[in-house]
Amino acid sequence: MAYKFIDNYREQGARKQLVRHLEKRGIEDKRVLAAIGKVPRHFFFDETFWNQAYRDIAFPIGDGQTISQPYTVAYQSQLLHINKGDKVLEIGTGSGYQTCILLELGAEVFTIERQENLYQRTIQVLPYMGYKPHFFLGDGSMGIPKHAPYDRIIVTAGAPFVPEKMLKQLKLGGLMVIPVGDEKFQKMVTILRVGENDFERIELDTFRFVPLVGDQAW
Ligand code: SAM
Repeated sequence: MAYKFIDNYREQGARKQLVRHLEKRGIEDKRVLAAIGKVPRHFFFDETFWNQAYRDIAFPIGDGQTISQPYTVAYQSQLLHINKGDKVLEIGTGSGYQTCILLELGAEVFTIERQENLYQRTIQVLPYMGYKPHFFLGDGSMGIPKHAPYDRIIVTAGAPFVPEKMLKQLKLGGLMVIPVGDEKFQKMVTILRVGENDFERIELDTFRFVPLVGDQAW
């Protein structure tokens, strides 16, 4: 694919329209909307598909994976309530778009991807765009214990259950956002760690994610 890093008026205008669309769909967090308005989503697409970049749809990024739908990215980001400087673990880097949004929200991001091609692409593209998370390649279904604990954990692939080992990597008061369900549909779940062994779990809307594949997953 031929990637180009030019942000023209046409793409800037389309991005503003996307922000207005997300507001109408119920995204209220102004910081999340500002981040969506800032990150050039078309940089994650071949130039041939730039006309698709600001539509509210998921899109193939190769290796059978997708860049998440902007609404889904905004929805998960809003649920996370990120504070500046929060240590955030992201499972499933994918294109790296969600990673950039987390960085725009002021997080220190630890992101892991199991597919080597995607990992190789993001370690080049994101720093080129000025975004510098900590990148990891491998199975993230057990979290990344070495850098735990985290203030926030976001899982961007559909899990069959909440991985226990990942939960234990949340700080007290920390929050996880994870889609949980079967291969077709998942409920967005938030989990707040309120004590050493106490967690508050809330089930929200239904989404469709690619599967979380690994030791503590499908
Ligand atoms: N939010 C990303 C974006 O905007 O591009 C999209 C993520 S995509 C929906 C889910 C990603 O999770 C895929 O790239 C997939 O390879 C990755 N994935 C699935 N299971 C994983 C695992 N166990 N560890 C790390 N990454 C995983």
